[in-house]
Amino acid sequence: MTPRSPFSGEYWNAELETKPWAEVERWQAGRIAAMLPALRRRSPLYARLHAALPDAPALGSLAGLAALPFTLKDDLRAAQERASAEQPFGDNQAAPRANIVQAISSSGTTGTPLTYALTARDVDTLADAIANVWFTAGVRRGDIVAHLVGLPMVAGGLPYADGFRRVGATLCWLGGFPTERIVRDMRRLRVSALLATTSFALYLADRWDDIGRDTGLPSSLVKVLGGGEPGLGQPELRGRIERGLRLTHLRETMGLGDVLPSMWGECEAQDGMHFNAQRSVAVELIDPDSGQAVPWADGARGELVYTAFERDATPAVRYRSRDHAQVVGVRCACGRTSPRIRVTGRTDDMLIYKGMNVFPTAIRDRVLQRFGDRVEPVLRIVKDHKDQVRFDDAIALEVESARAVDATALAAAIEADIRSQLQVRVAVTVLPPGTLPRGTYKNALVAVRDATKGTPP
Ligand SMILES: [Zn+2]
Repeated sequence: MTPRSPFSGEYWNAELETKPWAEVERWQAGRIAAMLPALRRRSPLYARLHAALPDAPALGSLAGLAALPFTLKDDLRAAQERASAEQPFGDNQAAPRANIVQAISSSGTTGTPLTYALTARDVDTLADAIANVWFTAGVRRGDIVAHLVGLPMVAGGLPYADGFRRVGATLCWLGGFPTERIVRDMRRLRVSALLATTSFALYLADRWDDIGRDTGLPSSLVKVLGGGEPGLGQPELRGRIERGLRLTHLRETMGLGDVLPSMWGECEAQDGMHFNAQRSVAVELIDPDSGQAVPWADGARGELVYTAFERDATPAVRYRSRDHAQVVGVRCACGRTSPRIRVTGRTDDMLIYKGMNVFPTAIRDRVLQRFGDRVEPVLRIVKDHKDQVRFDDAIALEVESARAVDATALAAAIEADIRSQLQVRVAVTVLPPGTLPRGTYKNALVAVRDATKGTPP
């Protein structure tokens, strides 16, 4: 008897998810070409950005997008500042105020939060795309889902909730309650799946048994969806969450509030995230320095650039995400044709050590990969001040020992390994386990020295 395949062969949108990727891109190019002429009439921002383009640019394929300028976060920020009574969302508000039914906000981890508008059709478009991600990540009708993002207005709030309801799962919005209440309600309501930031999933995994025992109820949890920050692609972090929660169904997901809150999700292979928003968003991979397109191929690296071609209210065309990704694969045993990626870091987080660029996530991933048996999965880089990007001296790195170790030897081993692998110097401080703060939202991978010393006001 052949063992049952882990691949279900079920898709949210079978046609678009299994069509050859080149055909999906050609179809998207046609949709974008049809959308562009009206975009300039609807959005003053795009009237300016696209002023030099022909009225009806021909787009035979997505490669034709190279003729369009990029949209930068600063463009959206400047557009937002041009707000008026009729355009409270600024001059990229491309729908009349009366047609806008919802505002969503970026989390504002860097700078002033950006706020986006949705028409009723936008809400529907988002719900379908996000449902596609949740379905790819294994959520089904009949699942009882704990949604653990606490703020309704952020991209991971109401839009994610809409996605769960669109799949047909039972939404239990437990985000925002104290951890004990969350765990008790999850067990009482037979919650079978949860969605949380990777940091919160880790936090929960470390306390699961202790809190769970107090409830006197068994757990029904079998599926975990994580996202909101890179990390779930990291095998040691993954293992820690799997062991803590006693399950093996662990799927990374990712989106971008500026474009669409969830667009990527892992399938049964649990090996990189598929692009699942092809019905309303086109994605390009580009070289972040030259801006040239990078072909989707195994191992290719680049920055993700998005064009939302079904967006009414606050559109985005060739939007530079500043998310850097590596392609894990362009074919998959699940039958989906979209590329699979892992995010390697964000431009905003990049550090420069004597001319060498390094992402904090790369340092974290290397330390956990090589020393995961000796350090806790929470560690942090310490900067001298908030805006520090350049380091002429070794980058301060705080790790926690997982058990009794020779701290001096461990620090020296990590410093030597990072220097040989990433060509940057770190100065390691080994702390006792549980010293670094662990939050229920996102653990900061980078801290500022003054803040960590608790300078009195
Ligand atoms: Zn797959």
